[in-house]
Amino acid sequence: LLAEDGTPRPTIFAEMSALAARTGAVNLGQGFPDVDGPASVARVAADAIAAGANQYPPGPGIPALRAAIAAHQERHYGLTPDPDTEVLVTAGATEALAATVLALVGPGDEVLTIEPYYDAYAAVIALAGATHTTVPLRATPHGFRLDTAALAAAFTDRTRIVLVNTPHNPTGAVLTRDELGAVARLATEHDAIVVTDEVYEHLTLVGPDGTRPPHVPVATLPGMAERTLTISSAGKTFSFTGWKIGWVSGPAPLVDAVRTVKQFLTYVNGAPLQPAVAFALSDEGVAAWVDELAASLSRRRDLLCAGLTAAGFDVVVPQGTYFVCADARGLGYDDGAALCRDLPRLAGVVAVPVSAFTRAGSSADDALRSWLRFTFVKRDEVLAAALDGLARLA
Ligand code: PMP
Ligand code: GLN
Repeated sequence: LLAEDGTPRPTIFAEMSALAARTGAVNLGQGFPDVDGPASVARVAADAIAAGANQYPPGPGIPALRAAIAAHQERHYGLTPDPDTEVLVTAGATEALAATVLALVGPGDEVLTIEPYYDAYAAVIALAGATHTTVPLRATPHGFRLDTAALAAAFTDRTRIVLVNTPHNPTGAVLTRDELGAVARLATEHDAIVVTDEVYEHLTLVGPDGTRPPHVPVATLPGMAERTLTISSAGKTFSFTGWKIGWVSGPAPLVDAVRTVKQFLTYVNGAPLQPAVAFALSDEGVAAWVDELAASLSRRRDLLCAGLTAAGFDVVVPQGTYFVCADARGLGYDDGAALCRDLPRLAGVVAVPVSAFTRAGSSADDALRSWLRFTFVKRDEVLAAALDGLARLA
């Protein structure tokens, strides 16, 4: 959590957003939409405030939201968590991840993640005193893929949690049923718990064949519901990233352990936001809005990928999320972090180095040193301004 000289380190997102603010560059670093989610959802929150939903809600989340989360899991995936004992509301997926890791592991335990990984994973594994092990995703002609032989080799007797993120930040990979099946088989063999970060579950993007790849929750694989904790949140699905309402669902004893930690992290979360998220998860009009978001993100993904390619980057077209990763080696840059510092001057654009999601010296770190992550969850005119700037690189 500290820089090499011992000073506290801002997250890469804070650092790059500050760089964008300082230079006036277009910020394609931190992933957050520049258009809010449905007004109908915001109205439920405003009405809840007016109606007095302003004091501590129940610790595990209001019953209506837990019921809506359970119904959503059943409607989309055929999962049937008990809203009373198998669903817990949290402060975004971030708290769900933190409380889960703190509840389930300590010194001597290993948490296996897919590298590159969302930066919070390494921090919370360190806070728990556990050991962080990783398996690389590799750039292939079929996108970033999990090497199942490397996955098998990464498991040890001490692997207690496998933390899987699909759709995957930063690469945009949507893991296939086969890849996840390998995770499931190995986790079962090693008696490990699978924790899945599915915050982009509804943001899979249209592929070359005109269809969106299916999002497969590990909990739906045979025998896996009993050893899987599924984490998601309202932020990405409904374009309300600042609301920080998330959840974790899974077997009651595991959710109970997570709740025990959660009550001392935040105790409870956003009273007036919870009925609004319950509405968003249940309403058909909002579901149609989310599908339109995925379609529009697919178009914006295509726009940015074309611009990056024209500028000389090698892109791996993402299958989901807000993000595309691009290799700058073709432009003559070996060091993505150095290019990110220069990019505001060279192109008027801010990106995030993929090395922010790797650890120094790993094989993924080596392979992705020259890669940058760009977000495309921005309005068309913002992307157009970024593409104009990027064209200066070519
Ligand atoms: N996991 C991943 C992979 C993410 O990209 C994000 C959002 N940046 C989070 C977790 C955190 O989600 P939330 O804002 O709901 O805490
Ligand atoms: N999930 C977003 C990203 O990866 C925002 C992360 C953050 O601000 N912590 O860019």
